[in-house]
Amino acid sequence: MNPRVRFAPSPTGPLHIGGVRTALYNYLFAKKNNGTLLLRIEDTDQTRFVPGAEEYIVEAFKWLGIEFDEGVGIGGEYGPYKQSERKAMYKPYAEQLVNDGWAYYAFDTPEALDAKRKEAEANKKTFQYDATTRMDMVNSLTLPADEVTRRLESGEPYVVRFKYPANLDIHVFDLVRGEVVINSNLLDDKVLYKSDGMPTYHLANIVDDHTMKITHVIRGEEWLPSAPLHVMLYKAFGWEAPQFAHLPLLLKPDGNGKLSKRDGDRLGFPVFPLQWHDPKSGETSSGYRESGYLPEAVINMLALLGWNPGNDQEMMSMDELIQYFSIDKISKAGAKFSLDKAKWFNHEYIQLKSADDMYPYFEKILKEKGIECNKNYVNSVYELIKDRLNFIGDFWEQANYFFVAPTEYDPQALKKRWKEGTGDKLRVIDSMLQEFKPYDKEKAHDAVMKYIQDNELNMGQVLNSLRIAIVGTARGPELFTMINVIGVEEVHKRVERAIATVEA
Ligand code: GLU
Repeated sequence: MNPRVRFAPSPTGPLHIGGVRTALYNYLFAKKNNGTLLLRIEDTDQTRFVPGAEEYIVEAFKWLGIEFDEGVGIGGEYGPYKQSERKAMYKPYAEQLVNDGWAYYAFDTPEALDAKRKEAEANKKTFQYDATTRMDMVNSLTLPADEVTRRLESGEPYVVRFKYPANLDIHVFDLVRGEVVINSNLLDDKVLYKSDGMPTYHLANIVDDHTMKITHVIRGEEWLPSAPLHVMLYKAFGWEAPQFAHLPLLLKPDGNGKLSKRDGDRLGFPVFPLQWHDPKSGETSSGYRESGYLPEAVINMLALLGWNPGNDQEMMSMDELIQYFSIDKISKAGAKFSLDKAKWFNHEYIQLKSADDMYPYFEKILKEKGIECNKNYVNSVYELIKDRLNFIGDFWEQANYFFVAPTEYDPQALKKRWKEGTGDKLRVIDSMLQEFKPYDKEKAHDAVMKYIQDNELNMGQVLNSLRIAIVGTARGPELFTMINVIGVEEVHKRVERAIATVEA
């Protein structure tokens, strides 16, 4: 049977890169095994709904190149794929569990539950609604049947709770962790359904995974504590459970704890794929896209946070990731996020891009600066400076002088390189350069070198002063190649301006 997997985010805010990694592993697994990946929106908790979050999720995956086969915005035969649109479907399942003795109605008020919690706290204990306490509470196990009916019919608020058998060892088989055993006495009777007509995550998730014929549940480790309940729910419904794979946590760079939403802007890197404006707080959080990362780099970096192909290969295209991916190579240990690694991947992916691929990004940067650009010129500039780019936005920092002539000159560089008589020498060189039409890099280089040698000049000083005149400081790519791109006419203007400014 071809596997069916799902990514099931809750639209409670922007998608954390941990969530992106979960979606990526699901995608790689589905593609590798000729399976189907679906996108389901889990929006049962209306109190946590954030406007724009769903659109954000869809846009982020589009940017990253993760495509879904079914789901929200795509359709498919198991829809609707948004839980709020499936609302009516869940109640009969909750009732079925009650009728079969796997669940019960509970009428305890929030105040009564709070009092129980306080009472337990006073005795240095934690209150848990479970096999040891449920018979002291107000529910369909303790009330007479007609009283339960009366309360339900009169519209009294209730919840449906799962009824764990006492002292039962629950075995969860996880494809990453192996077998995990948890005793039911440690678990509380989780709420599955509320009288406002909404299922909780647990019920909706299980009903949907079953009815959508999900074969593998690949999700973050934070859901491992819910897995025993999920296993029990499958048992209670008499359904075959999917296979589970809980992915290791993404850790802070120092390994101390989970990478949180707050860490990104605090530590100087994005934790979200796209920039996010929080509609409630008005806060903006940075995103990989806006920070100048290429989607391929983000995908490659995330793929290796918790998985490896079993050899030392680091650079992998999406097709290669699909080819090499397997759940058994997912590690159990948490994966530390590394900014250096993220930067390294981005640098490497920029090197693989053609000038034409990169042009739209640079065109945007230049337009923002009010600079008219010529594609061929921008492309030649890119070829010269690409190895200096870690991020797309570094383009301006590295290439601005190709577009705007310097008007100021680095004082330290001047002090070191610009001496008495430098202006005269630059004029000589400039006039030599003007003779080469069309410009010939090799010939220009040889002629200038000959001039330096014949006159026994200091090579570093002469070449660097020319560089200062062109760039504004003593940096930039190979001088004669740079002159070729900038053009000798422009070089002439820059030399004259530098002399006028420096020797004024
Ligand atoms: N809605 C859950 C989330 O936000 C899904 C967890 C699961 O995959 O079961 O992550």
